[in-house]
Amino acid sequence: MLHNPSTSVFNEPVGQNGLALYIHWPFCVSKCPYCDFNSHVRDAIDHDQWLNALIFDLRHEHQVNPEVRISSIFFGGGTPSLMPPRLVANLIQEAQRLWGLSKGCEITLEANPSSVESARFADLANAGINRISLGLQSLDDQSLHFLGRAHSVQEGLAALDIARRHFARVSFDLIYARPGQSLSDWQAELSRAIGFGTGHMSLYQLTIEEGTRFASDVRKGLFTPTDDDQGADLFALTQAMMNAAGLPAYEISNHARPGEESRHNLTYWRYQDYAGIGPGAHGRRLGRATQRHKNRKISFPAWREMGMGCKRNDAWHRMNRRWRRCSWGCAWPKGLRRKAWPRALA
Ligand code: SF4
Repeated sequence: MLHNPSTSVFNEPVGQNGLALYIHWPFCVSKCPYCDFNSHVRDAIDHDQWLNALIFDLRHEHQVNPEVRISSIFFGGGTPSLMPPRLVANLIQEAQRLWGLSKGCEITLEANPSSVESARFADLANAGINRISLGLQSLDDQSLHFLGRAHSVQEGLAALDIARRHFARVSFDLIYARPGQSLSDWQAELSRAIGFGTGHMSLYQLTIEEGTRFASDVRKGLFTPTDDDQGADLFALTQAMMNAAGLPAYEISNHARPGEESRHNLTYWRYQDYAGIGPGAHGRRLGRATQRHKNRKISFPAWREMGMGCKRNDAWHRMNRRWRRCSWGCAWPKGLRRKAWPRALA
């Protein structure tokens, strides 16, 4: 059973009259074989051009939706811990100047746990980041190698230590249901991870997505993915262990100590407004769904000519809106609150 917390941020009016802001940084050091995100490996990146483009986009969103305050900011990717901290600082300052940040605004950045990136944590904290989400992915070196990750377990744990010194709130990701992973293997790994004592963990099952290197490896018979029955047993074990540890699920893959849930995640699940900027980012605000261009060669001229990188900006069909509100609302353990049903069905 998923937990239904009674005293936590679930009861806060998060995001009411507020706007969550998602900023996508599309670059990575290498492409992981399971990844179908909009992420690219480049030898050289013109950081100033990217900063200008993202600021154009922020200003466009402000023109469209000025009468709100920013309730959370999430730097996702790609690997936003590769962004120079001055870019992060400039974007946060611009959001503050345009809209203002609500009190206690949660500002999260996704980070890879390499030594190069963890050396930037102090500067990222000074830039305004107050929550970090660390991509540990596994506590087993062979599995990290299989997942195509560049860091070792030792490097990952060193980055976790550094992160906890610099950020009040730290989360980390693990990927389970890896090929051949037994229940007892995962039990031992998750038990060790719980022992680190962070207030939030994201636990994802490995899925094989079309267009990834893993999808072609599976077609070639190089490995067999975990089957559904084993996946279900691993999921049930995960829920039991996390509930016992006091970090119940508040969404399919996200677990937190009550009060430590990601406010930004909750905005999505509560079907509240968010602006998404940067290549490929989705947004949903004022009854319209937006998507930015994915390809940077397309997005730069678009940004320059139009002052933003929008590829799509569509009014949501009424039925589509109703269906999404209800299905998203039902997908998280608190469910759709009774008083929210009339609005969902309007
Ligand atoms: S670091 Fe993250 S975004 Fe980049 S390729 Fe790997 S999984 Fe994808």
